[in-house]
Amino acid sequence: MRIIRSVGQMQKTISKLKQQGKRIGFVPTMGYLHEGHLSLIRRCRKENDIVVISIFVNPTQFGPKEDFRQYPRDFQRDYRLAKREHVDIIFFPSRTAMYPPKYKTYIEVQGLGEILCGKFRPGHFRGVTTIVGKLLNIVMPTTLYLGQKDAQQAVIIQQMISDLHFPVKVRVRPIVRERDGLAMSSRNKYLSKTERQRATALYTALMAAKDMIRKGEKKTKRLRQRMRHILVSAKIKKIDYIEFVNARTLEPVSIIHGDVVIAIAAYVGKTRLIDNIIIRKR
Ligand code: AMP
Repeated sequence: MRIIRSVGQMQKTISKLKQQGKRIGFVPTMGYLHEGHLSLIRRCRKENDIVVISIFVNPTQFGPKEDFRQYPRDFQRDYRLAKREHVDIIFFPSRTAMYPPKYKTYIEVQGLGEILCGKFRPGHFRGVTTIVGKLLNIVMPTTLYLGQKDAQQAVIIQQMISDLHFPVKVRVRPIVRERDGLAMSSRNKYLSKTERQRATALYTALMAAKDMIRKGEKKTKRLRQRMRHILVSAKIKKIDYIEFVNARTLEPVSIIHGDVVIAIAAYVGKTRLIDNIIIRKR
């Protein structure tokens, strides 16, 4: 397994591999790897000749009051985990390699970046699309692997790829959860023991909505009420949103029809968590 820190070196290495006809699979991450990341890496390993992951905590996707500085980092641990999964290359650039002092260019997907999480984290998706666009130009993968955990991010990145003609296929993989249902996230590390217990309410709320839908409920207003009640009962009071959106377009729906994503963003203590499920058309 190689660690590459320079953009030029990465592009040169990939160009050579592509000349040899290798399929390049790519998993972008912010590191502090967990089973969610590893499931993407494993799928990528199965479907490609070369597996590249990137580890970069991207400053442009954090708001000024967000957790960029505290975000957990442990390269040695990530290195061990990646090696065990037979990753070929870790792209691990410095901040200045990605954003030199005179950096000026950003990618923005209009509309989609301003709803759901975008409403509460202005500029976040502009940072995400910018870094992913840059990484695609550096890693030049055949296939990009993303997690459904960040459902809005996956839709926005696919829109960018289509609009800007990036020659890459995209695979979106299911959410990996802890045994009690909590979606795996590097940010779970911030939770105290009691917060960790309360955090399961996000999944409980999603499952309650799923059950109501199975029993015939179609009105999102009623589903949202029930979900809110479950969160508040677990002392989760700061709820950014509980939304019901079309899985493809992210447009809000008031009645469940077609494929719908039910998405939650809420604070458990000071930690902002997101989770979602897809309700497929019967
Ligand atoms: P991050 O390091 O949080 O930026 O995540 C890197 C990639 O891993 C993104 O495509 C995420 O959607 C994906 N990911 C994060 N958590 C999970 C999870 N619990 N299950 C599946 N994919 C995940």
